[in-house]
Amino acid sequence: MSQGMGGFGGLKPLQIIGDGAQPDGEQPLAAPVGSPVTTPSEEGRTEAKVIIVGSGPAGLTAAIYAARANLEPIVLGGYEAGGQLMITSEVENFPGFPEGIQGPELMDRMRAQAARFGALVLDVDVERVDFSRRAFRLWAGGVEYSAQAVIVATGASAMWLGLENETRLRGRGVSACATCDGFFFRDRKVIVVGGGDTALEEALFLTKYASEVVIVHRRDQLRGSRIMQDRALAHPKIRFVWNSQVIDVLGDDHVTGVRLRDTVTGEERDEPTDGLFVAIGHRPNTDVFRDWLEVDSKGYLVVHGGTGTRVEGVFVAGDVHDHRYRQAVTAAGDGCRAAIDAERWLAEHGLAERATATAW
Ligand SMILES: Cc1cc2nc3c(=O)[nH]c(=O)nc-3n(C[C@H](O)[C@H](O)[C@H](O)COP(=O)(O)OP(=O)(O)OC[C@H]3O[C@@H](n4cnc5c(N)ncnc54)[C@H](O)[C@@H]3O)c2cc1C
Repeated sequence: MSQGMGGFGGLKPLQIIGDGAQPDGEQPLAAPVGSPVTTPSEEGRTEAKVIIVGSGPAGLTAAIYAARANLEPIVLGGYEAGGQLMITSEVENFPGFPEGIQGPELMDRMRAQAARFGALVLDVDVERVDFSRRAFRLWAGGVEYSAQAVIVATGASAMWLGLENETRLRGRGVSACATCDGFFFRDRKVIVVGGGDTALEEALFLTKYASEVVIVHRRDQLRGSRIMQDRALAHPKIRFVWNSQVIDVLGDDHVTGVRLRDTVTGEERDEPTDGLFVAIGHRPNTDVFRDWLEVDSKGYLVVHGGTGTRVEGVFVAGDVHDHRYRQAVTAAGDGCRAAIDAERWLAEHGLAERATATAW
C-alpha cells in the first residue's frame, strides 16, 4: 500500500530500492536487488530455454518456478525493476507477512529467491521481439537474446494526472488502487478522480471504509455502465463534483486537500480530503508485442487456454493481461501458472525435461 497503518501519523518513509537485509538471525539470500546490476557482458549468457520479460511479482514468480525446474531462465526485467510494488510502501495483503512488508523489500526477496535457484535477472527493457519462429529473439540494451519459450509479464502502468505534488505525495495519501489502500482510510474522507467504471468501482469499494467519497469528474455525466452509475448515484456516502478537474494536490508530508478548477467557469477552489484515488485507467505495457500477440480493445494481451497466446511457446502472466484483479498475489499466481505451462510445453516438444512435479 501506501500509507502506514493507523492513518498518516504512522507513515513510513518511502523506500525505493531495498537493501536485501533479512530478519534477525537469517542468512541473506543471494543477489539482493541492492547489489550491483549484472550486465550481459559480465554474465555472457544470452540464450535460454525460457526468457521472462518483466520483474514484477508475475515475472519473478515465473523465474522462481522456471529456475527450480532447471530451465535456467533469463529475466529481462525492465528499467522499472521490481515493478509496481517498488513505488509503494506497506503491503498488507500479501500472504505470509502478518505484520505487512514494504513493497520494495517484498520484491527484493522475490528477486533473491529467483537468483538463488539460478535465474539471471537483468534490468534492461526489451525494445523489440521476433516471434516469427523459434528460437524466439528479443533485443534489449543493444543485445540479442534467444529462447525456446517466452513469458511476457510486463504489467500495466496506472495512469496519473501528471501533477508534481501528486508524484511527491504518492504513498502519502495519493493512490491508484482502492483494493490495496482503501483500508488505510477508515472513517476518512477521500476523493476519487475519474468518470468510468474503474472510478465508480473504486468509489463504491471505498465506501466500506471512508466516511465520505467524493467523485471528481471533468464532465457533467459519467462514462461508466448504467448499473454502476445507478449504484454510485444512489449511494449515501458518495457525492459528485461535476465539471471539475484536479489541478494540484495539497499537503506537506501527506494529502490534506486538492485544488479544483471548474471546467466551465474556470473558477478555482480547494477541497479538503485525506486521500486521493486516481482512477483514470491503466496502460498495459504491450507496445513491443503488438505485432505478434493479440491485444484486446484496451491493449491488454489476450490469453488462450490457461496462460498461452496465439504464438505457441509464448506465455503471459500478471497485469499485462489481467485488468480484473490487479493484485500482487494474483500476478504471482499467474507467474507460477505460466512457468508450469512453459515447462510442460518445452517438455512436450522435447526441449526440456519435466522437473516441476518433483521440484516442490
Ligand atoms: C501504488 C500501488 C500500490 C499497490 N499496492 C498493492 C498492494 O498493497 N497489494 C497488492 O496485492 N497489489 C498492490 N498493487 C498492485 C500490484 O503492484 C500489481 O498488481 C502487481 O505489481 C502486478 O504485477 P506484474 O508482475 O503483473 O506487473 P508489474 O508489477 O507492473 O511489473 C511489470 C514489470 O515489467 C517490466 N517491463 C515493462 N515493460 C518492459 C519491457 N519492454 N521490457 C522489459 N521489462 C518490462 C517492468 O520493468 C516491471 O518490472 C499496487 C499497485 C500500485 C500502483
